Amino acid sequence: MDLNGVTSVITLGKADALPAWRTGDAWLAGGTWLFSEPQPGLRRLIDVAGLDWPAHALSEAGLTLAATCTIAQLDRLELPPTWIAAPLVGRCCRALLGSFKIWNRATVGGNLCMALPAGPMIALTAALDGVCTILAPGGPERRLAVADFVLGPQRTALRPGEILRSIALPAAALSRRTAFRRISLSPNGRSGALLIGTLDRSGAFDLTVTASTPRPVRIAFPAPPGAEALRGAIAAAIPEAGWYDDVHGAPDWRRHVTGLLAEEIRQELAR
Ligand SMILES: Cc1cc2nc3c(=O)[nH]c(=O)nc-3n(C[C@H](O)[C@H](O)[C@H](O)COP(=O)(O)OP(=O)(O)OC[C@H]3O[C@@H](n4cnc5c(N)ncnc54)[C@H](O)[C@@H]3O)c2cc1C
Repeated sequence: MDLNGVTSVITLGKADALPAWRTGDAWLAGGTWLFSEPQPGLRRLIDVAGLDWPAHALSEAGLTLAATCTIAQLDRLELPPTWIAAPLVGRCCRALLGSFKIWNRATVGGNLCMALPAGPMIALTAALDGVCTILAPGGPERRLAVADFVLGPQRTALRPGEILRSIALPAAALSRRTAFRRISLSPNGRSGALLIGTLDRSGAFDLTVTASTPRPVRIAFPAPPGAEALRGAIAAAIPEAGWYDDVHGAPDWRRHVTGLLAEEIRQELAR
């Protein structure tokens, strides 16, 4: 879609500093959402693809994804065999049901910054203890857990002018057993509920609920809970008015399927 209100586009190069922020500015990553609907408030796009940030970096400490890493690049990534959470990566990539073109343009950072409830990169990075690095033009960088970065539908903790630089996933989280469940109203529909369970070597069990709630909800247990305890913890963490409501699912359906999927995850990881 042509963005008629945009009067200039800056393409940043590798060595360029971030420009001073103006009202009407937006960072342009893959553009898969920016160009998908009218953007009446935008006057200037700042294209970050040319910054040429390496898409990913692996070390003993874990995996760091540049905000500009595309879904396709992430899906192609081969991770060490000891990081048994690896299959979760592909599953979350495939939860973004887009064409070849979308997969090759849409970025991990763009997905987090969109902060849609059905953001599968949000689910992946929240479940694996992701930590965001945030830059500001001329300012110091700061770090924030993914769970605190996403505040609600299309609302993040970014301040005006800040840019998401990268997301770090610690090796300890990548070494956990995981279970993934997702449901949508139609076979190619957007996620109505997307849940991830993780189990670490000490037996600690974590459930991350996304898509059925406006923002990610993490529920932690020192050991895998029983069915009743899990149901109670979900009810305590997500109040009756806390279930998301949009064309991709009614709140009562989302509450119901979240309970079913959570129980499946509990049984799978308790095995
Ligand atoms: C067919 C189709 C299916 C889709 N399915 C899904 C889906 O299932 N779930 C979902 O969540 N989304 C979905 N989307 C929406 C969107 O494509 C994705 O969220 C995508 O990951 C956005 O990434 P992008 O790089 O294209 O972002 P852009 O469109 O470039 O930007 C999106 C927003 O994030 C800001 N932004 C981007 N990068 C940064 C950064 N590094 N720092 C600060 N701000 C930044 C931009 O300014 C803009 O406001 C879909 C879109 C299409 C067209």
